[in-house]
Amino acid sequence: MAEEAINNDSSVQEQWGQICSQLKTEVGDTAFDSWLKPLTLGSFSDGTMNICVPTRFMRNWVITHYSDRIHKIWEKKNPAIKNINFVVQAVQEETPSLYNPTCRSLLKKITSTPAPQNVYQSGINALVANNNDTALNDTLSVPLNPQYTFDNFVVGKTNEFAYAAARKVAESRNVSFNPLFLYSGVGLGKTHLMHAIAWHIKQQDPSRNIVYLSAEKFMYKFVRALRYKDTTAFKEQFRSVDVLMVDDVQFMGGKDTTQEEFFYTFNSLIEEGRQIIISADKSPADLEGIETRLKSRLGCGLVADIHPTDFDLRMGILNNKAQQLGIELPVKVAEFLAQKITSNIRELEGALRRVIAHSQLLNDREITLDMTQDVLKDMLRSFDKRTTIDEIQKKVAEHFNISVKEMQSSRRARTVARPRQIAMYLAKQLTSRSLPEIGRKFDRDHTTVMHAVRKVEELIVEDASLAENVDALRRILEA
Ligand code: ADP
Ligand code: MG
Repeated sequence: MAEEAINNDSSVQEQWGQICSQLKTEVGDTAFDSWLKPLTLGSFSDGTMNICVPTRFMRNWVITHYSDRIHKIWEKKNPAIKNINFVVQAVQEETPSLYNPTCRSLLKKITSTPAPQNVYQSGINALVANNNDTALNDTLSVPLNPQYTFDNFVVGKTNEFAYAAARKVAESRNVSFNPLFLYSGVGLGKTHLMHAIAWHIKQQDPSRNIVYLSAEKFMYKFVRALRYKDTTAFKEQFRSVDVLMVDDVQFMGGKDTTQEEFFYTFNSLIEEGRQIIISADKSPADLEGIETRLKSRLGCGLVADIHPTDFDLRMGILNNKAQQLGIELPVKVAEFLAQKITSNIRELEGALRRVIAHSQLLNDREITLDMTQDVLKDMLRSFDKRTTIDEIQKKVAEHFNISVKEMQSSRRARTVARPRQIAMYLAKQLTSRSLPEIGRKFDRDHTTVMHAVRKVEELIVEDASLAENVDALRRILEA
């Protein structure tokens, strides 16, 4: 009877259908949709039933978690099945009837779309880049900056530990510290180091699947997948990476569902022995709005911080950049810049670029201290007197005749909401605070700030009186 059943496609398919329903009740919808629904029946021979799994990662997971159970249930139903074998196989269009249509459409999408033509990205993120599912139709990995390499990273006292940790992770064949957690204030080299790790690994072994993306992008993709009810494909993309880098995880603060998904992804990858590299603006313990269990997971590998720059590092960076650009930078000018622009490396580079651009515009006029001071007058003034968000809130509230309390309240009346948006906009323009940091000052999340900034940018174009108000406020704050 058993042999008969096995020779009959529809009976086996029926049995598989029953097994699936039983498993679904046992493991719950989420686990079922993620891991078991994509399985499809393959061929049967010598008592062995082949079950197709779309990826290696999924195969390992299914074997560890579900194979015993599947075997037990099936054996009971059909003693002819002695073994179950899981094979990684992207199922082809012409595969016969023993086949799950949901899985087919998903696999077709994954396997048939050509990779995007991105020079920076070739070799990176191969599987992810090939997936052109509706819910996931742009690539996950952000292009890597070709300048952000270890060679271009100047090492000093303030960043040597983070640099050494990054190099170690990049050079190790085996996972060394997991995760590597890098943190610092803005513009101090976290992203540079992450890209450098990616470049290095890619150079050593182009077959490794590296995904680098910002936490914001992770959230965006996840929310999209939820909307399109396509979280399985979303999960699968992450779970097949060898090295996952997530930049600026502080942006996940307060986003509980995303954090949960990230936590899940994170744990599976760590268990699988894949390398994870994370950056944030604070240490794991100090991250705001991040669940305790995630914080403790983030901090359980190696935590390395980059300190604010010191004079020597600033000098080193200026000389290095000047050399790269083939520019003679007089020592006096370099010292002046290194003394004055202490906030972060991004601004230091910005200042240097301005000076160089000025000299080039004037037919390569010699770069002197006088010229530098003159070119950077405005910039330096604003460095001398950094505007704070508190000050912005106070001045904007005064200007529109409301209280700072009202500005921070949840009131949505236009008379309060508009000044609030303008204050957010000015905070983004005049300070180096991040969107979440600005949001916190207004008791809002970063997407609200982002929306406010866009809104005010639009209004400035459309509404002359509002533009005047914003301009007047800017002058007051910058005075
Ligand atoms: P973060 O991600 O911490 O905000 P970035 O990595 O974006 O900072 O760095 C800001 C800028 O400063 C980039 O252009 C980067 O190349 C440069 N930079 C940062 N650290 C160094 C360094 N040690 N040597 C050379 N350039 C650096
Ligand atoms: Mg960064």
